[in-house]
Amino acid sequence: MNYQADVCIVGAGPAGALLSYLLAKKGLSVILLEQNAVLGQAFRGEHLNEEGEAVLKSHHLFEAVESFGLLRMEKLEYYADGKVFKTILPEEAVGHLGIHVPQAHLLKGILKKTQRFPNFICLLHTKVTQLIVDASGRYSGVIAIKNGETITIDSQLIIGADGRYSTIRKEAHIDVQKHKHGFDLLWAKIPAPPGWEPSIKMALIGDKQLSLFTQVAGFVQIGWNIEQGSFPQLRKQAFTPFIHQLTTQFPALTDIVKEHIQTWKDFVLLDVFSSHCDCWGTKGLVLLGDAVHTMTPTGAFGLNSALKDADCLASLLDKDSLAYFDVQEFQHMRKQAIEYVLAVQIEREQTFASHFVNRAS
Ligand SMILES: Cc1cc2nc3c(=O)[nH]c(=O)nc-3n(C[C@H](O)[C@H](O)[C@H](O)COP(=O)(O)OP(=O)(O)OC[C@H]3O[C@@H](n4cnc5c(N)ncnc54)[C@H](O)[C@@H]3O)c2cc1C
Repeated sequence: MNYQADVCIVGAGPAGALLSYLLAKKGLSVILLEQNAVLGQAFRGEHLNEEGEAVLKSHHLFEAVESFGLLRMEKLEYYADGKVFKTILPEEAVGHLGIHVPQAHLLKGILKKTQRFPNFICLLHTKVTQLIVDASGRYSGVIAIKNGETITIDSQLIIGADGRYSTIRKEAHIDVQKHKHGFDLLWAKIPAPPGWEPSIKMALIGDKQLSLFTQVAGFVQIGWNIEQGSFPQLRKQAFTPFIHQLTTQFPALTDIVKEHIQTWKDFVLLDVFSSHCDCWGTKGLVLLGDAVHTMTPTGAFGLNSALKDADCLASLLDKDSLAYFDVQEFQHMRKQAIEYVLAVQIEREQTFASHFVNRAS
């Protein structure tokens, strides 16, 4: 089967979904391809900051996302020895310290509005495997597998919004520089105890960060930084003393943790790295979001940067100028901001422990 579209967007994460909406709204024909059969199933952190919120609001998408459910964080608390010693409240003008938005809610909210455009097609369960190059050397389409069948999509512009392990980046031979940050991350999700307020709570275990994020529908997400590459060794050790460190810092979770986190298998391991590309695209092809700059989970910037990329890229594309699109302009507009965010992440990772110094004062 063969499809044609002005733009072919690979990956229905936050970047691909928002870009689809913005371009379809401008009248371009858009085909969005997603390898998963269901949207937003990947295990992700899901905190929207005020910048991501502003992007959604500026395009009147926030209400659609909110209709599926979200939760505003009301405070950030630092804990030691089971007690709060520092509380940060939101700036009045912002009104929260981040918003928990389940990825499925974000994507469904955006794509529900996008489906209304007759010039938009979304193919789920469709994995892109190859790029097509025309006689002039310009990328002109993709080959994908849908339900075991090979399909082709011809397009003026291929957009790689396919995340940290981007197939489009690999197939276009775009180099990526990967950086480790000295830690990996264990994730777990547990029910919130009764009366648990929408908050972010932080503690220090050794010299590593332990964070709790209240989630929509009565859950708490646990993010526990551990020494980079240490998990294989760690999981050979006794589990009880390890998990005891968490309940010592957060005694209110003792019973729930006992019930829901009983073995190492109740944690999911995230290999933490950041990455960046010096080249954001080439003739007929552009990358955005995690495909061109993966961030660590620190400070919850990845999703928000992906939304900002999509907003910026959409502002540069329209039907008439599509054939002349200059990827350099997009790269120039976004690269500096991305480099700044990556630097902020490193600084926050290196100085996290300083929040716990002189805490009695
Ligand atoms: C554990 C974890 C916690 C995080 N916490 C936060 C947070 O709290 N706040 C925050 O702002 N950011 C956070 N991030 C980062 C954030 O999730 C990403 O930066 C953001 O999702 C990037 O969006 P994206 O659209 O570029 O890529 P992705 O969200 O990765 O989406 C890419 C999409 O492409 C699809 N795809 C991949 N390959 C193909 C293919 N060959 N064919 C078709 N489809 C394909 C994937 O299935 C996926 O749906 C976290 C990331 C992780 C892993």
